[in-house]
Amino acid sequence: MIFYAIQPGNPQAHLFTVTMRIAHPDPAGQLLRMPAWIPGSYMVRDFARNVVSLTAQCGGEPLAVAREDKSTWRCAPCDGELQVEYEVYAWELSVRAAHLDTTHGFFNGTSVFLEVVGQAERACQVDILPPRGEAYAHWRVATSLSLAGAAPYGFGAYRAEDYADLVDHPVEMGEFSLASFEAGGVPHDIVITGRHQADMPRLCADLQRICEHHQHFFGLPAPMSRYVFLLMVTADGYGGLEHRASTALLSSRKSLPRPGAATVTADYRELLGLCSHEYFHTWNVKRIKPAAFVPQDLRAEQHTRLLWAFEGITSYYDDLALVRCGLIQPESYLELLARVLSRVQRNPGRFKQNLADSSFDAWTRFYKQDENAPNAIVSYYTKGTLVALCLDVLIRQCSEERYSLDDLLRLLWQRYGCSPQGSAGVAETAIEQAVEELLGEAHSARVQAFFAHALRSTANLDMESALAYLGVRLQWTAPRHQNDWGGYTASPVPEAAPQSSLGVRAVAAQGFAKISHVYADSSAARAGLAAGDLLVAVDGLQARANTLEATVAAYPVGTHVVLTAFRRDELISLTAELQAAVPSAARLSWLAVHRERSRRWLGLDA
Ligand code: ZN
Repeated sequence: MIFYAIQPGNPQAHLFTVTMRIAHPDPAGQLLRMPAWIPGSYMVRDFARNVVSLTAQCGGEPLAVAREDKSTWRCAPCDGELQVEYEVYAWELSVRAAHLDTTHGFFNGTSVFLEVVGQAERACQVDILPPRGEAYAHWRVATSLSLAGAAPYGFGAYRAEDYADLVDHPVEMGEFSLASFEAGGVPHDIVITGRHQADMPRLCADLQRICEHHQHFFGLPAPMSRYVFLLMVTADGYGGLEHRASTALLSSRKSLPRPGAATVTADYRELLGLCSHEYFHTWNVKRIKPAAFVPQDLRAEQHTRLLWAFEGITSYYDDLALVRCGLIQPESYLELLARVLSRVQRNPGRFKQNLADSSFDAWTRFYKQDENAPNAIVSYYTKGTLVALCLDVLIRQCSEERYSLDDLLRLLWQRYGCSPQGSAGVAETAIEQAVEELLGEAHSARVQAFFAHALRSTANLDMESALAYLGVRLQWTAPRHQNDWGGYTASPVPEAAPQSSLGVRAVAAQGFAKISHVYADSSAARAGLAAGDLLVAVDGLQARANTLEATVAAYPVGTHVVLTAFRRDELISLTAELQAAVPSAARLSWLAVHRERSRRWLGLDA
């Protein structure tokens, strides 16, 4: 057993104090290592950089410690119990790291707990201690770590099976709101930190429907004995990270349901979609996982070409589940789907990077996006969602509606999630083979062609046909403004004349339009406008971020306009020949046919 104790030693200075006791240290000198990354977020973050003042003792005597590499410390040989003490600076308000002040503490184990190299398989005990002082007398603890002496929601002793388990249960402490519900016989908690006025009973009731949906989707019993949603609310936060029995979420205050309101606002729908996404990961990625992540190596990047399946399929089902469990209307779901279609369509980067490469390069590209990202990369979340939808249609078509993508997921769950033989993880080609298996040899060629096209080429997906199969019409229109991501329309939209566009994204700055992105081959790109330019005038008229595209749309296609901008502190003048806007706003409406397929797809017959 490895013993850890963690205490918010100095909340004002954002410092956790961690002590460790290792009964049997390596006689050659114990190595201690901090993870370089946190599972679920594929970027090297080097958490060791937040460790300050690490000291070691052996038998009460100070012991020398030296750095081995950026993440590793080597203690001098120690004959007896090794004790280590260090502080961790915690001032990153994100679901991936640690955050501490006088109002609350939050940490992921990957940010605060050193691994005892060579002893990662040993069970761990962690004493979670309160900050010193009366001001903290009402603080509680929320985590999915197993109790080992601590009272529920109390400070005290918790336990983990091994190091991987220890770092897969984030911990929140403070005076949070807490509500509980049961789903499929499993106790669930929702813990909210940050000021809010949420309708907690409604949140519980809605989350319960989502949780029960996912549990039934994969088949009972659920693979965890309890589950915790840890939600931090701020003015405009957004993010989530999945764990084996919990999730850490960051959301905007306005996304919470207000007492007395019965509708699902667009903001609340976004929060429900986020919760649905992270909960789906309990099966898809936490238990059905890529073989490339087995064993998990937190020292450096682990590459897989399968993130389209683990993130894309999860993203497909997160919103689809909301309509299937009756929380949103089918039209509301189509609005969400239109956004995904538009986001993929707007970025020319989809012609430069295929989905398999997008996954492989997540570490240095998706997670390190710069101003050129829309022109250079494609997202395995958004395009992955569309591939999941096309795959769903392919399975339905080939099996004459006997099977759907749901059946593929259940097959993967049986094979990799609940069987011990599956713990080696999903090999890089295994999902494609599983689809061939499900559909039989007669469809092998078609399945192989589908994956070659969808994952390993940059050609457009035939979304029009896939959606038509499901009874949905897809039309493309020019976006009306830069945040026009399409939507649902009750009737088909009439064809419109081409409309001029600069092809940029801009943010308001000093009353003008600061260019954040220039789309490849757009009017602006050809004129030489660049990200970072402060566009002050178009054809002598003041440029403003929110009206920029509408201003330009008033000119006929082919017009030459003068763009006046500051690049750094130099005023420049460029001439743009206005091109027609790329039709990249998806409009979805119902077709008069295939209604029974739509209903089956959206779970409306159940
Ligand atoms: Zn995800």
